[in-house]
Amino acid sequence: MNPIREALCSRCGRPADTYLRYAKLNLCKEHFLDYILARVEDTVKRYRMIKPKARILAAVSGGKDSSTMLLTLSKLTGKFDFELTALHIDLGIDEYSTEARMIVEKVCRIAGIRYAIIGLEDLLGLSIPKLARRIYRPPCSICGAVKRYLLNLAGVEAGVDMVALGHHLDDLAVYILKNFLLQNLEDIRKLGPKTEGYDGFLVGRIRPLYEVYERDTALYVSFAGIPYQSLECPFHSVGMEDRIRAFLDGMEEDSPGFKIAFARSIARSLSKYPQPRYEVRRCGLCGMPSQSDVCSFCRMMMKVLGKPLGLELRDRVREIVSKL
Ligand SMILES: [Zn+2]
Ligand SMILES: [Zn+2]
Repeated sequence: MNPIREALCSRCGRPADTYLRYAKLNLCKEHFLDYILARVEDTVKRYRMIKPKARILAAVSGGKDSSTMLLTLSKLTGKFDFELTALHIDLGIDEYSTEARMIVEKVCRIAGIRYAIIGLEDLLGLSIPKLARRIYRPPCSICGAVKRYLLNLAGVEAGVDMVALGHHLDDLAVYILKNFLLQNLEDIRKLGPKTEGYDGFLVGRIRPLYEVYERDTALYVSFAGIPYQSLECPFHSVGMEDRIRAFLDGMEEDSPGFKIAFARSIARSLSKYPQPRYEVRRCGLCGMPSQSDVCSFCRMMMKVLGKPLGLELRDRVREIVSKL
């Protein structure tokens, strides 16, 4: 027998399935799902993320975070009057990517959202592990750069107004603090709830889970009966970020809600952080944003394939996203 009296849902009085320390709430599954949806709705409103009639492209990985983002946003399309589609980038990392792709297809069907998949093997003839081996760089650094490039390219070619990312509060707090410790102050500006784009070649980004904890994304998909990626990326490495995460978790433990307060104060002071010193230019080969004459993606392709893919790649991506 459990000696502790059963906790009851603060909303309906039925047995609770979880307790949210930061909100001091016991909630049953149903009211937890409602609560998280309301948090996302508040976040979208608070940071004016979505303009009426906007076209939003959600980046989905098969992980709990982006699935929660897609499912909650899909329930808000009527309320905020926007169109939502999804994009998945298949990185070609063995079973990890196979599982991710299957989950993405399932989640998009459940949410009733049209989606497109860019397969790296099909597009470049190269998976992330192959790419990393060819240019002697750690897979994680390449993976991030390739995903950012292709997501922006897909957004440009699909003609969307914003790309929605699944980054949650816990990760964002870590990245912000890491950049502060390293004094990469201009990078902090890019980690806010919303980043504006440049007309025609850099799509703006929104982060609807800016104030949603990682734990809540796991509960959300599990309570909603949605599958999520069980395999961890084989390239995941432990480093400085885990130390910072442990510190922030300790702060949250001492004062529940600390991370939300931190994220909100960062969002309020974002404009005080310096702008990047470089000017955003267009790559001479592909027309995408670049800090120099040729963008880092085109340079990477020249190294690996002997030639940049330039406009040819854009044509292929345009074809993939044309069904959205
Ligand atoms: Zn309830
Ligand atoms: Zn380029």
